[in-house]
Amino acid sequence: MREIVILGSTGSIGVQALEIVAAHPTKFKVVGLSAGSRNIDLLMEQAHRFHVPIVATTGDASAYRGKGIEIIDGENSSTTLAALTCDIVLNGITGSIGLGPTLAAVAAGNIVALANKESLVAGGDLVMAYGREKIIPVDSEHSALFQCLLAGRMNDVRKVVLTASGGPFRDRSDLSSVTVKDALNHPTWSMGSVVTINSATLVNKGLEIIEAHHLFDLPYSKIDAVIHPQSYIHSMVEFKDGSTLAQASPPNMKGPIAYALAYPDRISEATEPIDWLRKHSWTFEPIDTERFPAIELARRCGELGGGTTAIFNAANEVAVDAFLKEKIAFTEIVETVEKVVQKLGASAPARLRDLTDVSAIEKDARTLASELLGV
Ligand code: MG
Repeated sequence: MREIVILGSTGSIGVQALEIVAAHPTKFKVVGLSAGSRNIDLLMEQAHRFHVPIVATTGDASAYRGKGIEIIDGENSSTTLAALTCDIVLNGITGSIGLGPTLAAVAAGNIVALANKESLVAGGDLVMAYGREKIIPVDSEHSALFQCLLAGRMNDVRKVVLTASGGPFRDRSDLSSVTVKDALNHPTWSMGSVVTINSATLVNKGLEIIEAHHLFDLPYSKIDAVIHPQSYIHSMVEFKDGSTLAQASPPNMKGPIAYALAYPDRISEATEPIDWLRKHSWTFEPIDTERFPAIELARRCGELGGGTTAIFNAANEVAVDAFLKEKIAFTEIVETVEKVVQKLGASAPARLRDLTDVSAIEKDARTLASELLGV
């Protein structure tokens, strides 16, 4: 029986994780759940359904007190919960607010099943200082790389190749007129709204390149990305002998979530397998970096390192929020990120000492992005 804490339990990753737990009640026991302020009713319902003794929320849970479930509240409630002794903490929080909880979990000696890629983008050096074995990736591309890398030695890797669906605008030439509804209509993956917008701008792939750099300690020159519209191959590792290993499954987050929670075991029927007897066409094409400048920008930030990737992410979070509220145009998202990086990148610390450093840089980036966008 594996005891798990789920951070962000009411989001897309958290809900799917609980479905996996419900299907395998003898394998997993949920010992803690956390959610933000918007979904307290659902959080408490999940806690009752799964007999969870303790929950954390940033919202007002006073109506639920004294009913047999311990409640931690306040701004740092997820961070407190993440340090609870357990077998694995699944971090399904969206955004760099997930960094504090990730750091608290690894500092407490917990293994983290990491869906919160922003933890590594904003504070990768801080997180990975606790040891590579502490983090099991949940992001589908990185889960694929993690699985493929089990077949060889790290110093035999020539490069890794992340696949990208290309999002809904892969073939659209004019991106200035894109609406929120267009951008939320992802062709292959069903995900939360922020990661769906990030997939449409390809910022998501930029974040994932940075994530791969930290997770696998690879230089950026060894991390490529390619468009694979069918989203069946989740990423590949090319070894020095010219052999490439790929991990494939239908696009469904249940596979990588179940893999991370059960690792090194595999869960029966975590996801539907590929029907190999059906006719398939899987295609690959290069990314159009002119229409999607986010990839090169992310790579540049990654090369600069230190606080620059935290700036990239924080500016993007502000711009995406403004786009989702229909205050700015789609193309303004990456334009703004670029401007904020240009202005603040040079003054970012070359080395992050702690979470306080990250928070300070992010605050500057958020303020400047808001100013530039007038939001
Ligand atoms: Mg991904």
